[in-house]
Amino acid sequence: MYERLLVRYGDLNLKGKNIKYFIDKANHLIREKLAGINVGYDFRHDRIYILLHDNDPQTVIERLNRVSGLYSYSLISKCAVNMDEIVQLALEMIAEKTHNLPTTFKVETKRADKNYPLTSQEITLVVAGKILSVAKNLIVDVHHPELTLSVEIRNDGAYLFIGQIKAMGGYPVGIGGKGLLMLSGGIDSPVAGYLAMKQGVEIECIHFESTPMTSIESVQKAIDLVEVLALYAPHDKIKIHLVPFASLHSDIIANIPESYIITVMRRMMYRIAETIMKKNDCLCIINGESIGQVASQTIESMKCINLVTQALVIRPLAVFDKLTTMKIAQDIGTIEISNRPFEDCCTVYLPKNPVIRPNVEMTEYYETLFDYQSKIDQAIINTKTLMLKAGKHFDIIGMGLTVQAGFNHENH
Ligand code: ATP
Ligand code: MG
Repeated sequence: MYERLLVRYGDLNLKGKNIKYFIDKANHLIREKLAGINVGYDFRHDRIYILLHDNDPQTVIERLNRVSGLYSYSLISKCAVNMDEIVQLALEMIAEKTHNLPTTFKVETKRADKNYPLTSQEITLVVAGKILSVAKNLIVDVHHPELTLSVEIRNDGAYLFIGQIKAMGGYPVGIGGKGLLMLSGGIDSPVAGYLAMKQGVEIECIHFESTPMTSIESVQKAIDLVEVLALYAPHDKIKIHLVPFASLHSDIIANIPESYIITVMRRMMYRIAETIMKKNDCLCIINGESIGQVASQTIESMKCINLVTQALVIRPLAVFDKLTTMKIAQDIGTIEISNRPFEDCCTVYLPKNPVIRPNVEMTEYYETLFDYQSKIDQAIINTKTLMLKAGKHFDIIGMGLTVQAGFNHENH
């Protein structure tokens, strides 16, 4: 029944050239995510029509749900500009939606073809009148209808649709530059990465892995999470930088008083992340920290940890509660992977009483107790980078690879 899909762009409150840039980027992403599906495109200045041919609209919508910067969709049925045909089609569409149950409704008409003899208001009255005389389950409510039938009279025919389906929203990914996502195996950081992409920021990921202190499965977890996030990325691809953290990690455990271990560990992570960020032309660090979630995420802790970097740190989840984050993780399909029971470097050897108000001078003093800089330099030199692609599984366990031994990502 549906001939095309009307796609509306997201926040077009931008000015001048930025609007064109926004739309070009969004259109590019749309074509990319629909690659392999035989659809047609009818680009207009503030919207795009996707000609569905014989494809299942749901398949097309599922792919488009990975395009940030789109606001909503409407499924359109098309017929000749003829009142009887319009009413006939409208009745079919309404019956499909209401299953003939009592429903309030209204008709809205737009007339792009100004040559048509009836005004928009007249068309609305004729169409609504004829529909009401046949569909006895419908009651008019012009203020808060459950169902709005939109009729657009255009040169090439009448376009009919009912309601709007919400799209991903935000800005086309890439329009806001690139950020470095600190990705653990937990629930939060993949959600932070998704939200950054949704807001237009392309991401690369950095994962601190402590094999053999932690299992290779925890590295696989990070890889698998990136493969899901890549569904929303340009070209379905995201890089992950695997930082060998075990040596630094064991030095921290050996030298730092227990309650300060996490504070110091996170300061080391930030130091390394800043260097990797700069090396890869990322504009900021992004992470999944959320105020008060754990001892290292009180505002006082975050302040003390943040002192080691000049980088802009974006924390999309700073004010989210865990349930909100979990709901998003469920919707984007990362939660099952995050829930796999493998420890990473933040959860293994967890101190019993981590400090919640770290003292900056004490922290700085503790850090003089070992030569962390050379360990940081080594970790950065030995960082391994993989380019991961959605739908193409990189099986680090199955390949018998270990991060310490290294591997060449050009092969994958
Ligand atoms: P959870 O859902 O269990 O809270 P999490 O990923 O948020 O998982 P936290 O211990 O709360 O883990 O860490 C806060 C943030 O620090 C993470 O969201 C992530 O951005 C970053 N982070 C923690 N551990 C690592 C790691 N091993 N590699 C990269 N980033 C990490
Ligand atoms: Mg967390």
